[in-house]
Amino acid sequence: MALEPPRVVIVGGGIAGLFTANALVARDIPVTVHEQAPALGEIGAGVFLTPNSVRQLHRVGLGPDVERWGARVGDGSRYHREDGTEIAGVQVTDSSGWNAVFGMHRADLVSMLADRLPDGVVQTGRRCTGLTQDDGGARVSFADGAEVEGDVVIAADGIHSELRHHVVPPSEPVFSGSVAYRGLVPHELVPDWPTDAWHMWLGPGRHFLTFPVRAGELVNFVGFVPADDEMRESWSAPGDPDQLRREFAGWDPRVGSLLEQVRTTLRWGLYDREPLPRWTEGRLSLLGDAAHPMLPHLGQGANQAIEDGMALATILARTDRDTAPAGLLAYERLRRERVAQVQRGARENGLRYDSVYADLSVRDAEMAAHVTYRKWLYDHDVLPEAEAAAGALA
Ligand code: FAD
Repeated sequence: MALEPPRVVIVGGGIAGLFTANALVARDIPVTVHEQAPALGEIGAGVFLTPNSVRQLHRVGLGPDVERWGARVGDGSRYHREDGTEIAGVQVTDSSGWNAVFGMHRADLVSMLADRLPDGVVQTGRRCTGLTQDDGGARVSFADGAEVEGDVVIAADGIHSELRHHVVPPSEPVFSGSVAYRGLVPHELVPDWPTDAWHMWLGPGRHFLTFPVRAGELVNFVGFVPADDEMRESWSAPGDPDQLRREFAGWDPRVGSLLEQVRTTLRWGLYDREPLPRWTEGRLSLLGDAAHPMLPHLGQGANQAIEDGMALATILARTDRDTAPAGLLAYERLRRERVAQVQRGARENGLRYDSVYADLSVRDAEMAAHVTYRKWLYDHDVLPEAEAAAGALA
């Protein structure tokens, strides 16, 4: 007799929740996604996708959408010193030479993930306020008084997760001491800017990143600078374009020419957490930033969330309504150490980007050598190992 698949309730309709829903739907596992905002959406900024997650997007049928809405980043991508001197090339393939690295507008990625889901899967205006569970199932309650029942609940509700405290004791996120100015410049305002390359400039205590998004129509920029006291208190706030220009005054004129065109920018405090000792309690598991918020210095938060989603769906596909909690533990076992390594790696890489080096050639050599780590990240395919973990459950 066929197994009756577990009913999955996802809290949070960001990149993590929406990709996971796609991966579950692809395996005919019933799922609903509950998002607190009145409508799905994302901030006006870019996200960088790398082969380890693009591989998974292809598997749920989203490869053509990534090609259409993304901007493929190629061989011309470079790290530079602040004065524009070239340091090293940027790794833009996995070890097989597959050039699956794309800049994407966050809103495009969210729409693309949402549009593929059947009607009724995503429910907006649903702010989760609580969870109860027992041997028979789990119930999620919402601010509007509604309650939804499932066999498993996935908390994909971000760094401020409402549900995390059901798994681990409450704790404060760790502030990095840096903030990021983020925004987009229409390519028509900087017509000479490359539409197929990723560029980063590194200086003492700060760095500046650009990559194209939306098929090259927009240039995404991120300026990482030390935090002042005001920013320590907030997560995100409108930034002052003139202040941003002052932060990078005197750098490579190419940076200045792009910043001249910035009209609006948001400032983000950069926070992460120590790797959590567990992600699962009974019928509840954490996923994406709810499980592993990380600094953006490897560009992996969303990419790792996509790996999580594929792992979870692959494992749950081999469980039923009774055995799904064992599947959650297998998902956690599979993912926790890899993601902890990436969380630690992001901190280390941030230090490399921002450190004051007495001898810059040391930093430059480290940047060039980092290609080995990138290959480790990008070569990873979570699917076969998730299938093996699922097989071990049976
Ligand atoms: P979120 O995007 O935070 O989504 C959580 C969702 O849950 C939200 O929609 C929220 O409204 C909803 N929610 C919260 N509470 C509730 C509730 N109680 N009830 C219902 N819904 C709720 N990652 C990359 O992979 N590549 C990059 O290039 C990259 N660049 C970055 C640059 C910067 C400057 C920063 C700060 C981060 C970057 N990241 C990058 C990280 C990436 O943005 C995050 O890891 C990713 O967006 C996390 O997705 P998520 O769905 O887990 O969380």
